[in-house]
Amino acid sequence: MTDVDFTSFQLHDDIMAGIQAMGYKTPTPIQQQAIPVILENKDLIACAQTGTGKTAAFLLPLLNKISHANHDHTSTLILVPTRELAKQIDDQVEGFAYFVSATSIAIYGGNKGESWDQQKKALTSGADIIIATPGRLIAHMNMGYVKLDKLDYLVLDEADKMLDMGFMDDIVRIVRELPQKRQTLMFSATMPPKIRDLARKLLQEPSEISLAISKPAAGIDQRSYLVYDNQKLPLLQQLIQELEVISMVIFTSRKSAVNDIVKALHKMGHSAEGIMSDRTQEEREATMQGFRNRKFKILVATDILSRGIDVDNISHIINFDVPQDAEDYVHRIGRTARAATTGTAITFISDKEQYRIARIEKLIEKELPKLPLPEGFGPGPEYNAAAKKPMENRNKKRRNSDTKKNATGKTNSEQNHSRARAPKEKKPVDNQRPIAPAKPRIKPNTDTAPSSE
Ligand code: AMP
Repeated sequence: MTDVDFTSFQLHDDIMAGIQAMGYKTPTPIQQQAIPVILENKDLIACAQTGTGKTAAFLLPLLNKISHANHDHTSTLILVPTRELAKQIDDQVEGFAYFVSATSIAIYGGNKGESWDQQKKALTSGADIIIATPGRLIAHMNMGYVKLDKLDYLVLDEADKMLDMGFMDDIVRIVRELPQKRQTLMFSATMPPKIRDLARKLLQEPSEISLAISKPAAGIDQRSYLVYDNQKLPLLQQLIQELEVISMVIFTSRKSAVNDIVKALHKMGHSAEGIMSDRTQEEREATMQGFRNRKFKILVATDILSRGIDVDNISHIINFDVPQDAEDYVHRIGRTARAATTGTAITFISDKEQYRIARIEKLIEKELPKLPLPEGFGPGPEYNAAAKKPMENRNKKRRNSDTKKNATGKTNSEQNHSRARAPKEKKPVDNQRPIAPAKPRIKPNTDTAPSSE
């Protein structure tokens, strides 16, 4: 596999120029496997997590086909769970589209009339590629001007997340409007039975690619500490002092904890900002831009960001708490060591969170090294591999989306942080960066207006 390079796919020259401009030298494993299948017009179900290069794995062959087909209609629909992902994919299309003749539009929920109108305009004029969150697309479809009857390619990206977020019915409703004869590609970080069911419904004799399932990239040095809640901030302080941090993302499941952590970091003398979905879109974009441009070193974020942050050289990830879903652990730590670099991911495990570790270790198929607390910290909790969910958590309603999770399933300590009820946080934040060096945009009608689903 290592011998494969991009020339072996026999892509058009313009696509090759785009690949070169993006600085991609060697196709990643998912690209090596998926690109030939997609070029052969086969349906595909691929198990690949974010950070593996999966976006280019479907964009490159699709752009190769689209940009030379002279379609007069929208040929490609990419359904995604979150607006971050929609924007991120749109950014990648833009990166390639500097060389390739294709237009795209990101359609995701919004609160501003102007973004709706821009989306409507772009949908009416027929962009080559629509990248959409299901709910928002349906809202436009209900207005009658979305024409998908000639669609050639359907991509479901992060299908597991879409189902987790309750988009199943929307997906089925959208697919009903599409031609039967089309190529369908489904990407999912995990392959639970519900994903297989969906695949059976939507795909025809698909090729199947399964990369090491949901294992974090090999370049990530994973560690953890067993701590009591009141030891977390002091430990964070000590680690930041000891580690050579280029840039760090600190994840917490609790939106309400973001500000507390940022304030504590400021007190420690570190430059840090928090990002949450109840900030305005402009504020969130400014925060992400500041982080990318290294205006501050530490970003504190909720899980909602775990799949979307695509920033180079994040040297350290801190899981300030243990994510509720094992998959979220993989996504969080996947923000570092992207595209085969290296990074360190450190998880703080409180006594009340220990029960989540077994599932994570099962998923990543390895034991998380549990390091002794630094000198002077006193003892942390003992590790109990068979720990059960604390009683006070058991009856709490479990919900699925990242956002919803923030307001539910809290441990006692979490509740301490979130006395003020989580404000209504519906939507994810934006966190994309253009992955190629800044290039002029080709698309006249694309919607970059901030919005939320
Ligand atoms: P993804 O898994 O699609 O989110 O991609 C993760 C990151 O890897 C993105 O920043 C991509 O631009 C980058 N990437 C994708 N393919 C390659 C490649 N072949 N070589 C280097 N970087 C890549």
